[in-house]
Amino acid sequence: MAENLTIFELERYALEDGPGIRTVVFFKGCNLHCLWCQNPESQQRRPQVLYYRKQCVGCGKCIETCPAGAIDTASDLGFVTIHDRCTLCASCVDACFYNARRIAGEVRSSEDIMREIMKDQSFYENSGGGVTFSGGEPLLQIEGLVDLASRCRSEGIHTALETAGSVPWDRFERIFPYMNLIYFDVKHIDPLVHERVVGAPNGVILNNLIRLSREFEPVIVRIPVIPGVNDSPEVIGDICSFLSTRTRVRKVELLPFHRLGSGKYAALGREDSMEGVPSLDKAACLPLAGLGKRFGLDITVGAGH
Ligand code: SF4
Ligand code: SF4
Repeated sequence: MAENLTIFELERYALEDGPGIRTVVFFKGCNLHCLWCQNPESQQRRPQVLYYRKQCVGCGKCIETCPAGAIDTASDLGFVTIHDRCTLCASCVDACFYNARRIAGEVRSSEDIMREIMKDQSFYENSGGGVTFSGGEPLLQIEGLVDLASRCRSEGIHTALETAGSVPWDRFERIFPYMNLIYFDVKHIDPLVHERVVGAPNGVILNNLIRLSREFEPVIVRIPVIPGVNDSPEVIGDICSFLSTRTRVRKVELLPFHRLGSGKYAALGREDSMEGVPSLDKAACLPLAGLGKRFGLDITVGAGH
């Protein structure tokens, strides 16, 4: 029987989430709340209405059609959705001629997602690509993930997982047989700073990484480099020291902070904690990557393969 999954995007022809040409399945729902999250619509498991004020002409059609009284114009932010009143009926989305409203997230069966994935099988074969499970945190929907990943494996499709690692260990054991590659995020070694900027302590995450690096390969660590949080040689050096002494990970990617997802905070009616912080240049991260040699790590800047 096919499992249901809550996803917020299915991206075809992706080039930065593993080798070759890939389809990326973005799972909705995350148990972390990183201040710099570029996909804030991924955090809640439940689908949500996004409202793009720049496209809104103020015609009021959405508020007229909303049966739940879930659109508010009291603030100066426009026609804002009151998420806990919204029943996700999509009437406002259909009523808006200007595409200023859309629903992020949908529940789809693994069979249905698989049909979409199979459309690009020849691209995977010719480019050495495959499917990447990203999020959100895919391991929070373990039954659906195992079902979908096992379907990919039976078709001979390469599979990769992107995880933040804050889950019970047995979730990793469940997906080992169906995964070819795991990307694992590390943000900070100091537990107090980690809790402040990510919303959860890092003990489980680091212990999972130690064990994962012994029981599975390849594991590639990804470090989002965030101004004022971990963009110093000291903090990156602490992470490198941990990786080199406590894990078998040798390949690391530094991902410079960018602002591509910043408009989504306003679309959700949320404050952007990184408002006004400029994107980081790749060049600014090169000296941090240079630290790798000292710790016996192969560090590159940007998502490689
Ligand atoms: S229907 Fe669309 S354009 Fe009209 S007020 Fe609502 S969001 Fe704005
Ligand atoms: S999805 Fe339905 S309930 Fe939610 S804001 Fe739009 S019209 Fe109202």
